[in-house]
Amino acid sequence: MRIYSFFFLFLLSVTMYSQSGLLTPQQHFALYGRQHHFFHQIMEYISYLDANSDKVRIEKYGETYQGRPMYLVYISSPQNLANLENIRQSHLHTTGMLETAPQKKDEKAVVWCSFGVHGNEAGATESVPQIVYDLISGADPRADQWLSNTVVILDPSLNPDGFDRYVHFLKSASGQRIHPETNHREHMEPWPTGRYNHYLFDMNRDWAWQTQKETQARIAAYNRWLPHVHADFHEMGYNNHYYFAPAVEPYHAFLTPFQRQFQTEIGQSHGNYFDQKGWCYRHDLRTGGELIIR
Ligand SMILES: [Zn+2]
Repeated sequence: MRIYSFFFLFLLSVTMYSQSGLLTPQQHFALYGRQHHFFHQIMEYISYLDANSDKVRIEKYGETYQGRPMYLVYISSPQNLANLENIRQSHLHTTGMLETAPQKKDEKAVVWCSFGVHGNEAGATESVPQIVYDLISGADPRADQWLSNTVVILDPSLNPDGFDRYVHFLKSASGQRIHPETNHREHMEPWPTGRYNHYLFDMNRDWAWQTQKETQARIAAYNRWLPHVHADFHEMGYNNHYYFAPAVEPYHAFLTPFQRQFQTEIGQSHGNYFDQKGWCYRHDLRTGGELIIR
């Protein structure tokens, strides 16, 4: 009897928990990857990870016009998270943005990832639970090494009002069965669509002007960190190749030669990963002015 109980418990633990003891997104959400979730449901899972892991910390940094909270999710080693303010000050001092050096210099790479400024490109925000889980659970053996010298800052949704507008529409228009036909109503999002925020601004056009409350809060938070790397996650149309750095010319005059070159380096690295999977993508490597499409 005891043996059976043990066997049952063992099976249960294999089924319910990963090696870290954390529920995977697939275990937490019944239809992860097959159905969309509201923003508060995405944050519920990330809050669960925060409560059960010392590699995650959540901070509220603003609020949308419709009253939805906006969050930053810090992911790093427990030692780095305990020392976060010192790391921030060390980084700002190195960049010349802070005059006084902190007592103990502690430099780490700072990577900022923004998801879903266009709310109806909902795959961006939907991917956040998996990304957080993969970074902290030990599922990827490289992750702990990365987190030992990197602070990752995720903004799960830059446009929670637009995201939820889209998810409301999709859930209303779709049912138990998935309809891949493009002429089905669930693929015809009505005006004003989830691309925009409450006041129907395309906030991907608002980074410089900062007319919207969400952008203002985000830029204030961003300037507190001035990360080395900023990745901005969108979603491509179903019949488009994935597009990533280096960006298409013309470039802003303030971009330094190093920044231009670094874009190419990052783009080539992404391309290698996509090649391994055989995924389609395009980027503008400017080799003789030719656009490379794979
Ligand atoms: Zn977009």
